[in-house]
Amino acid sequence: MGTVLDLDLPAPALTAQLCDLASPSGEEGPLADAVEAALRAVGHLTVDRDGDTVVARTALGRPSRVVLAGHLDTVPVAGNLPTRLVDGVLWGRGTVDMKGGVAVGLRLAAHVPAPTSDVTFVFYDNEEVEADRNGLGRVARQQPGWLAADFAVLMEPSSAAVEGGCNGTLRVAVDLTGTAAHSARWWMGRNAIHAAGPVLQRLAEYQPATLTVDGLDYREGLNAVGISGGIAGNVIPDRCEVTVNYRFAPDKSEAQALDHVRQVFDGYDVRLLDTAPGARPGLDRPVAAAFVAAVGGQPRAKVGWTDVARFDALGVPAVNYGPGDPQLAHADDERVDVAEIETCETRLRAWLAT
Ligand SMILES: [Zn+2]
Repeated sequence: MGTVLDLDLPAPALTAQLCDLASPSGEEGPLADAVEAALRAVGHLTVDRDGDTVVARTALGRPSRVVLAGHLDTVPVAGNLPTRLVDGVLWGRGTVDMKGGVAVGLRLAAHVPAPTSDVTFVFYDNEEVEADRNGLGRVARQQPGWLAADFAVLMEPSSAAVEGGCNGTLRVAVDLTGTAAHSARWWMGRNAIHAAGPVLQRLAEYQPATLTVDGLDYREGLNAVGISGGIAGNVIPDRCEVTVNYRFAPDKSEAQALDHVRQVFDGYDVRLLDTAPGARPGLDRPVAAAFVAAVGGQPRAKVGWTDVARFDALGVPAVNYGPGDPQLAHADDERVDVAEIETCETRLRAWLAT
């Protein structure tokens, strides 16, 4: 007999119940079973499951649909379970990242039977590990219709502030060639490492932009993150490779970002290594603007890459909004102010009702 979740518990107590059912990545099964069972008991929801991802939705025929999503897994437990509640602060693995958000999502799924937009609740597996295991990515590939919506909220910890979109990222190698020779007769060769000098100079002089996209400021960066060359202490090297990482604002596609890098290194061999798209915050869309107005506060840009980009790739603008200080995520002393969990529930409930 597995754990039975009580969706009538206040969100902080439900958070503690979710955390105490430990679910490090790859071991979400018992928690996914409990979430599925709890949601199947809610009369106004249709429930689907794929692996350890559970998707529940209303089907009220509303003109718009929104997604509330959260991952069920955590990083490994570090002797910080079971949870402890001390002076309004809940301590333990998962309290920040991100079972407070999951508790809020479950409470709203059970207790908002007539939202003004249809709502799809997504509780997914394997967010804290390699991208190819990510449950949201798997559903996006295999069941994209489950995620179709006008707007999505990823309930990752954001200290109850709206964090919109994210920068994209790509890496290239700039390949430099020369002519090998014995270093005693260096004038017979051409040094590929010396040829990297002007490349590094361009990087040092580069002025990264800060771009405003849908009202939020995204700070770009173009940086060398690696350099290699040379085969022996007495050989003029004929090869050198400079690895460059470009963090680009979500006003650009991956192809446009690559074009920009090729322009910066005009005249050099530039080879694409890998790339991941950014995500626009979409705050210019009425459905997103209504969200920001309902939850309040000043939205800010998300700096790192997050799963909001998976929604953006499906044409669904998405933001991060959830309880907990993101700087405490994954920490051994992970803890959340329970008042923040309640604030998020109250504001999201108000949003779904307007
Ligand atoms: Zn997370």
